[in-house]
Amino acid sequence: MASATAADRAGRPIRVGLDVGGTKIEAVAVSAGGEILGLLRRPTGWGADAVIESIAEAVAALAEETGFALEDVASAGVGIPGLVDAGTVLHAVNLGVESLDLADRASALLGVPFVVENDVKAAALGAAALRGAEESMAYLNLGTGVAAGIVVDGRIWRGTRGFAGEVGHLSVAPGGRLCGCGQRGCIETLCGGGALAKAWGRPGALPVLDILDAADAGDPEAIALRNGLHQGAAAAVRVLVLTTDVDRVIIGGGLTSLGDRLEDGIRAALRDGAGTSAFMRSLRLDERIELLPAGSPAGAFGAALVGASTPTKEIVPHG
Ligand SMILES: [Zn+2]
Repeated sequence: MASATAADRAGRPIRVGLDVGGTKIEAVAVSAGGEILGLLRRPTGWGADAVIESIAEAVAALAEETGFALEDVASAGVGIPGLVDAGTVLHAVNLGVESLDLADRASALLGVPFVVENDVKAAALGAAALRGAEESMAYLNLGTGVAAGIVVDGRIWRGTRGFAGEVGHLSVAPGGRLCGCGQRGCIETLCGGGALAKAWGRPGALPVLDILDAADAGDPEAIALRNGLHQGAAAAVRVLVLTTDVDRVIIGGGLTSLGDRLEDGIRAALRDGAGTSAFMRSLRLDERIELLPAGSPAGAFGAALVGASTPTKEIVPHG
């Protein structure tokens, strides 16, 4: 299918955004005015070829359900785990992808220009836009892993190599549990869903929920893990505010389904941590956090915004 030129695409009304996760893809269609016109979820395939197929299927289903044609699509953006460099995804282990030239392959398949960004960075942009945040903010993702995206004046701060916001691998407990990165006591070992499930080690579909329930019932091991969850997330908030002085740290990711049991615990840990320090109390960290509402499409919406920022050189057709 032939790609369209930038001029051809000008004025087309639909921006598509896809948040590709380990188990599902969330796709949104966004109008030129920024309104979400349609949203759906589809399972994600395993491995590079299956990921491309799942993306194509999600876009086709979204077009059919929302009632637009692919010819109406100005751009598509994808938020995906792993390291993203110029449209190529590297080391997305939860998707079975070692290296995938996603932007080129999806563009060729669908005839729509694609832009790819790391999923947490895309969600940060989406959260900022959905909240209407004019000021700078940080988005802390508490999911299987832990990472943050920092938005400054409406734009993602990527850093020189795209690692800005990787607070999950700040070691805050040097003698602590071993992290997948090779260090001990990383923030992610305390408040990452994957690390918590491993530390808990008991069967169950929702290990972090089981930990909180067991802690409420007085299980000492679960109480220690729950304290670590709250303190690890509090440490992430602390480092984000101390390095960037963002007004808001918006918390998203799978663990936010815990609701108040997560938010209240993080707030309490932030207050406790500031107990003896007039300086830390003056930062009012507990007042700066906010949980993303359950089911918020921040990831897919942010991906649509990333796609809409397509530089002209990336939408010139190949060949
Ligand atoms: Zn680590």
